[in-house]
Amino acid sequence: MQTHNLGYPRIGSQRELKKASEQYWSGKITAQQLMQIGHAIRLQNWLLQKEAGIELVPCNDFSFYDQVLDTSLMVGAVPARYHDLMHDKQLPHIDLLFAMARGYQKDGYDITAMEMTKWFDTNYHYIVPEFTANQQFTLFNNKVLNEFNEAKRNNINAKPVLLGPVSYLLLGKEKETGFNRIELISKLLPVYIEVLTRLEASGACYVQLDEPCLSLNLTDAERKVVARTYQEIRNKLPQLRLILASYFECYGENLTTVLNLPVQVLHLDLVRCPSQLEDILAANITHSHTILSLGVVDGRNIWKNDFEASLALISKAVGQLGAGRVWIAPSCSLLHVPCDLALETNEQVLTPEIKQWMAFAKQKIEEVITLKQLASGENNEAAAAQLKENIQAKKNRHTSALIHNMAVKQRVAAITDKDAARNSAFSSRKVKQHEALRLPLFPTTTIGSFPQTAEVRSWRAKWKKGDLTQAQYDELIANETEASIRWQEAIDMDVLVHGEFERNDMVEYFGEQLNGFVFSQNGWVQSYGSRCVKPPVIYGDVNRPAPMTVRWTSFAQSLTPKLVKGMLTGPVTILQWSFVRNDQPRSETCTQIALAIRDEVTDLEKAGIQVIQIDEPAIREGLPLRKENWEAYLQWAVRAFRISASGVEDATQIHTHMCYSEFNDIISHIAGMDADVITIECSRSQMELLDAFAEFKYPNEIGPGVYDIHSPRVPSKKEMVDLMDKARAVIPAEQLWVNPDCGLKTRGWPETKAALHEMVQAARELRKLV
Ligand code: GLN
Ligand code: ZN
Repeated sequence: MQTHNLGYPRIGSQRELKKASEQYWSGKITAQQLMQIGHAIRLQNWLLQKEAGIELVPCNDFSFYDQVLDTSLMVGAVPARYHDLMHDKQLPHIDLLFAMARGYQKDGYDITAMEMTKWFDTNYHYIVPEFTANQQFTLFNNKVLNEFNEAKRNNINAKPVLLGPVSYLLLGKEKETGFNRIELISKLLPVYIEVLTRLEASGACYVQLDEPCLSLNLTDAERKVVARTYQEIRNKLPQLRLILASYFECYGENLTTVLNLPVQVLHLDLVRCPSQLEDILAANITHSHTILSLGVVDGRNIWKNDFEASLALISKAVGQLGAGRVWIAPSCSLLHVPCDLALETNEQVLTPEIKQWMAFAKQKIEEVITLKQLASGENNEAAAAQLKENIQAKKNRHTSALIHNMAVKQRVAAITDKDAARNSAFSSRKVKQHEALRLPLFPTTTIGSFPQTAEVRSWRAKWKKGDLTQAQYDELIANETEASIRWQEAIDMDVLVHGEFERNDMVEYFGEQLNGFVFSQNGWVQSYGSRCVKPPVIYGDVNRPAPMTVRWTSFAQSLTPKLVKGMLTGPVTILQWSFVRNDQPRSETCTQIALAIRDEVTDLEKAGIQVIQIDEPAIREGLPLRKENWEAYLQWAVRAFRISASGVEDATQIHTHMCYSEFNDIISHIAGMDADVITIECSRSQMELLDAFAEFKYPNEIGPGVYDIHSPRVPSKKEMVDLMDKARAVIPAEQLWVNPDCGLKTRGWPETKAALHEMVQAARELRKLV
């Protein structure tokens, strides 16, 4: 029985990579210094895994930005707009890499970055490969070989990890019409074969090819390409031992194809899909020689492994295949979890009781080793003690009073359909809201946050350090809020916001005030490039001990006779951007959060707030990878939103906000949320996203964003009127609001004020037109 790992976090346990790359970008360190830091992180990761006892330690899982971008460089898929830069400036690869990831605006060049998108259903973002009809590939960059040799020099025969050729193509985008990127496989494959040949010649024993697209719904044609590709690799490299890895979902209808691939090792994500072990064992692979890599340790979450459950799976496989054909591994790369739980030393923040239930990357590596020791029946006292402790921790978690709150469970169990529906249908609510709110046609509003200036952030930092008292901090926030109210009144905005100055982050702010959440000090996970996030951990039943936003919202409302909109984060988004407990279904946890938000909504209403926004930007990214699972997810997600929104009177207006494109395939569920008003990101798509709403005859009100908040550029009144003209060509004017694409927290004040002034003028102009 062997152990291996699919990938280790690359940011460094102290976020060394983040700090170094940012220093490099701002010219504070040299490329050579940056390279050294990369080397140090790799070496540290390799040694840590090797010393823990991992037999096959991964290499090429490191990246200075993103592994998909690395693959684009490996195969020479550098988009044409970078070619001048490459040739005239002879840019070193590291700078080319950063130029592709971040754009290049220097020395008279102004080249846009490549697009970035979410890596499957994770919060990691990859750089989307760009392909043209005449796309050529060549072996352009030797990173994988260099890292393999680097490991070798340190006496480690590492396992190179590469994004497989089929997934690489599928994850990219055609930049021209007239071809399908999958057809490029015949040009791409020779480059992969060359890389694999070199790795084999350098002494690689195994190579891991990641084909996570095998977790998606593929077409027959795509499956055929998979089969042909791996057969071709096998023909060219008969001796090379290949590990095929997919993760995040079952192989599903791709399983037959997968089982027939000529690979030595097949990796299974048994956390996301425990049932597939039986399917595979039943599929009669007993007679072939395929080794199964059992991904039993969760690479997506921070909980301790359930040793008994994992051992049961392992022994089932061993029983049928023999120990020689079973490997043990994490379910996927550990990129998605923080580095080391041992760094969480502040017992006030993470209490020992909660900490005993958790495991970060380093601990997960140790779990893999312990599982192997236990499964192979070695007479190992330490492992036996680990098992005992593991069972005990599980028992504690099962019964802990910290986690289990009967009142919450009973309240969830008692929810009825009535709790998930407003008192009346939108058609009658609309009339009552019209009377109560007295808004003009094309009402203007913003999405919630105003600039979180360095100053505002410095107040919070000082307050947390104790350099500002609570009273001093509160006064600063109050002044900033008041200024924003005065200013919104002055430009004649219709529905005001308080500005969210008191919030660090739209999920953290709520997590910190809810029971059932805990925060780590060092639990950073890479989101993209140098950007890391520290997701809250939901460990127990969620409830709201006290109002969370009423104070600042009603303070803002007390300053003005105009409407101030209350601002909340929705249950699905809070769930989606946290590490969620794994001892009950996600839907259950989401419902608990929904009840907490519902209480906040009704408290805001009691405090006299008549318009309340519940942001749900993450509903779409929560969609399961396989379409057949969408319906079930959307059912509970939409219901959770409705539970949070439905405790109020008809005259209270509920808004929601979502900033993503693509509503087409889920428009009926978006409508099912039944928010009185939905604001969406629309400006960059020139209002095209409204077509889905128009086609569906979406009945409620919509605020299509009229300007892009991602850039400091100030749009003109005319541009916004033109966009709204497009909007009202497809949606009746009485349904339309005028607002920016999203919150303004990343913007500066000068452009914010200028843009919103123009926006209010645009609404005035529109009112004259109808
Ligand atoms: N209310 C939030 C804000 O304005 C919404 C942010 C978001 O959609 N991501 O900042
Ligand atoms: Zn948004």
